[in-house]
Amino acid sequence: MTDTTDRCFDLVFNNAVVFDGVDVCNGTMSVGISDGVIARISSGQLTGVRTVDASGHWLSPGLIDSHVHMFDPINCVDEPSMARYLDETLPKYLRALLESGVTTIKSVGDPVPELIEARRRLAGGIYTGPNLLMTGTGISAAGGHPGLTIYGSNEWYRRRAVGEVETPQDARARVGEMADLGADAIKVLYQGGCPCHGGTDYLWHGVVPIVRLKRTALEAAIDESHRRGLKVTVHTFEEDRAIEVLEAGADGLEHGVVGQDFADDRLLELLLRNDASYIPTLWIYSTPASYRNLARVRDAGARIVLGTDSFSPEIRIEGIDAGYYGSNSIVEAERMAEAGLAPIEVMRAATSAAAIHLGRTDLGIVADGKRADLILLAGDPTANLGALKNPIMVISNGRVVHERGSAKSSS
Ligand SMILES: [Zn+2]
Repeated sequence: MTDTTDRCFDLVFNNAVVFDGVDVCNGTMSVGISDGVIARISSGQLTGVRTVDASGHWLSPGLIDSHVHMFDPINCVDEPSMARYLDETLPKYLRALLESGVTTIKSVGDPVPELIEARRRLAGGIYTGPNLLMTGTGISAAGGHPGLTIYGSNEWYRRRAVGEVETPQDARARVGEMADLGADAIKVLYQGGCPCHGGTDYLWHGVVPIVRLKRTALEAAIDESHRRGLKVTVHTFEEDRAIEVLEAGADGLEHGVVGQDFADDRLLELLLRNDASYIPTLWIYSTPASYRNLARVRDAGARIVLGTDSFSPEIRIEGIDAGYYGSNSIVEAERMAEAGLAPIEVMRAATSAAAIHLGRTDLGIVADGKRADLILLAGDPTANLGALKNPIMVISNGRVVHERGSAKSSS
């Protein structure tokens, strides 16, 4: 059957099984792409400048990784080393993400001038990489995480990668600065990656004494972000602090509750009340409690979003293998399934749910008018997440940016 339109699209996939970001469409569908957007979805055949016969294959929105750090606090110690990183290293990492099918990333704490430069290079075609969203610097306590921990021995980097604040006024000023620089959301670090032991001062991985952000500064940061129309996602670790974060109105928990099982349903109720997202980052916090808590978030019906916390392979943290950009995102998906999510729930967390979390209704969905960020797979990812590995094709903004070479193509 041929579609009724006589339009010739830039790129067409005929006869694919389509996961549209929410569900698997009945039968096979054809998708026409023009000018970077999905222009037609039809049960009939379409014609394109390039037409791919996708029969036997699955078409899905590209993956969204909502928690990454793209820069290197070990080797970027001054302007020349950062310039080298931008020229030589970052392009490899961005390409690796695309080759794994990750078409959107959200940087949640990186040096801001360089994020802006990376966006400029992406827009100008100097880089080929995912759609790069950013929070700018994370907002954290002066003398907190990651300023004193990960960036502690690199003052130059620390000054441009984290917004360390003391007072509510400082917090508001930092939010305003990030908003003015074009941040897509605001990231706040309420805790370090460690238990608090009740006080404001505590030990990061049992070694580095750090300060926790004051609750009044947290509340001010969230209030100011909302005043400026930005969502706020907050780095947490323990249940009582995560509850404080949600009580203050946060829109997301990065990591969530890691070292203990939820004591009761309070956190779950607040996630639902705020319409907030839970980003478990099992890739980095692969604790038994993290898995069990994720299953409870799912059972409660709160939004779950995929994010890895991928960082530079140059950073060495005891007990954590830095892995690699892109492949980490697939590991995260598989771990979410190990926690008890069905593969289709994981796929939603990596596509349509992530897009809602990012406030980007043009992403994560296969539908008319949406941005054409797509992956073509040899197997069904909603049955087996292993199908995400080694995509046949990756399409970013309507362009084929990666191709394994087995797709049957005419013209
Ligand atoms: Zn992180």
